[in-house]
Amino acid sequence: MLGSLIFDVAIIGSGIAGVSVARELSQYNVSIAVIDRHSDVGLESTTTNHNLVCQGGDSLTFRPGTLHAELNIKSIPLWPKLADELGFPLRRIGGLWLIRDKADFRRYLRLYSRAFKSSLEPNAPYYIPEGSFQPLEFVDRKRLLDMEPYITPSALGALHDPNLCITDPVKVAKPLRRMPGLMASSSYLTRRSLGLRGGE
Ligand SMILES: Cc1cc2nc3c(=O)[nH]c(=O)nc-3n(C[C@H](O)[C@H](O)[C@H](O)COP(=O)(O)OP(=O)(O)OC[C@H]3O[C@@H](n4cnc5c(N)ncnc54)[C@H](O)[C@@H]3O)c2cc1C
Repeated sequence: MLGSLIFDVAIIGSGIAGVSVARELSQYNVSIAVIDRHSDVGLESTTTNHNLVCQGGDSLTFRPGTLHAELNIKSIPLWPKLADELGFPLRRIGGLWLIRDKADFRRYLRLYSRAFKSSLEPNAPYYIPEGSFQPLEFVDRKRLLDMEPYITPSALGALHDPNLCITDPVKVAKPLRRMPGLMASSSYLTRRSLGLRGGE
């Protein structure tokens, strides 16, 4: 059976990374096989993560100048568009970085100043496209209790990041697999259908 299966590209792993690469390649005239040891997409880390989409303050935690930081920031405005296109849920719930002591405050002050710089300096490593990043804001304990009445008593205040989003990564991965272009140009194969053994 293996002899008759010839593809231009074989992608091992149908997590969010594998199916995203497959979708990107589906724009080209190549045949693609996505191979996984499981019988469906996204059944490992893609299923078992915290469902957070790194937007806003989270993006500022990546080391400036790294590809990781650059790609993360570039992805910020793409998420809402992708959610509309593929129909997966994307909710901007915001996040609170809790401050329990002076060290926390100093750490979040550094983060906050990066966000401030990002909106002022278009060439800075943290530049974030206009309109896709709401300002971060320090809130005192009183305001924190208005926002989260059951917050831990040890929290003195917080850095509020209104940008943080959640999604369901499996619902992101599944429609990526079902893109009409991709299905036309590729086959989706499970490990069983190829008869592979673990590690092959
Ligand atoms: C606890 C935790 C929380 C996280 N929280 C977040 C978060 O909130 N936000 C965020 O953005 N990221 C988060 N991440 C990171 C995120 O989950 C991963 O970066 C992402 O899921 C990686 O996707 P992937 O496609 O590379 O890997 P996976 O989703 O793990 O996919 C790899 C696939 O490859 C297959 N595979 C591997 N080896 C073989 C083989 N030899 N043969 C056949 N198939 C094989 C596996 O079966 C699997 O389906 C978290 C990670 C963890 C562990």
